[in-house]
Amino acid sequence: MHTDTFELLAPAPGLAARLTVHRFGAPGRGPKAYIQAALHADEVPALLVAQQLRPLLQAAEAEGRLRGEVLLVPAANPLGLGQQLLGQHQGRFHLADGLNFNRFVPDLTEAVAAAVESRLGNDAEANVRSVRQALATAAAALTASEPAADLKRRLLQLAADADIVLDLHCDSEAVMHLYALTPQADTAAELGALLGAQAVLLATESGDSPFDEACSATWLKLAQRLAPRPLPLGCFATTVELRGQADTAHGQARADAEALLAFLVRRGVLDGPAAPLPPPRCQPTPLAGSVPLAAPHAGVVVFHRQPGEVLEAGAHVADVVCPLGGQVTPVHSSTAGVLYARIATRWAAPGARLAKVAGAVATRSGKLLSA
Ligand SMILES: [Zn+2]
Repeated sequence: MHTDTFELLAPAPGLAARLTVHRFGAPGRGPKAYIQAALHADEVPALLVAQQLRPLLQAAEAEGRLRGEVLLVPAANPLGLGQQLLGQHQGRFHLADGLNFNRFVPDLTEAVAAAVESRLGNDAEANVRSVRQALATAAAALTASEPAADLKRRLLQLAADADIVLDLHCDSEAVMHLYALTPQADTAAELGALLGAQAVLLATESGDSPFDEACSATWLKLAQRLAPRPLPLGCFATTVELRGQADTAHGQARADAEALLAFLVRRGVLDGPAAPLPPPRCQPTPLAGSVPLAAPHAGVVVFHRQPGEVLEAGAHVADVVCPLGGQVTPVHSSTAGVLYARIATRWAAPGARLAKVAGAVATRSGKLLSA
């Protein structure tokens, strides 16, 4: 392992923000995996899993098991890690402008298409190599003039030419779940089985360019753009939601890290015996079928159902209690499916999303992720 640090554009003169990346193996010999933790900085279970991954990867490297290269960014958002507001950690949005750290990651499609258009032929593998190289070149050319954009640019520069991108996050109160591209359902299901995911949510475009799609969906868009020349998807990227914010336990983090390593073995990044795939705990479902349950008015939230429960359509998930008149309004799920996440607070602003249910039928369109 060797460790690099990058100075990010400073939030103010005299303040430093530094990005740390651990590198295992060697570039160019085999597949590249890129793993980052807590792009929304306060997603502490992801930070913990990264700390479990580091010695496991070091051991794999010492045993000569790395076919290619693994990059691990153990705390992907130093800007957000430093954002405390009135005693609360604010890691999801940049306080300077309110933008989500995991949206508007630069889209390299046009730059890469322009670079490779005249070079691609009928050899699918050669096309993948050309595109991978062009992705690295296009990412390297990105510039930024403010700190959050500089962070996104740096992270994308590390990940853009990877074969596998694991973006480790967590939700508020949740069971393990994943987001991935629809055409990569089988790979997502394999990782989901290893992690014991209870929801695997698929979309071809979630909206507003989250990090995983800036890595994977670019290939999809390029394949469509450059057809009929063959271009297989050269990157599997996924957002792994490591349960809820409070789910920090050493044993669980170790098991999650081992599951991620088992996935890297199965995908040929590491040598080693491929662990048998555990029976999956869910089937992938469309992200457009994930239904948010909204608070009908302001009030105190009382939940009746737990993350991980499989709901029937119409299930009574929560009540919202008006603190003035005492009115109790039940909140029902319009869809059958797994209740995979809910809020961690028990106060609802009007219209607040209280919980999310992974239904099997696509019912939504447009932007599919929350703010
Ligand atoms: Zn997140």
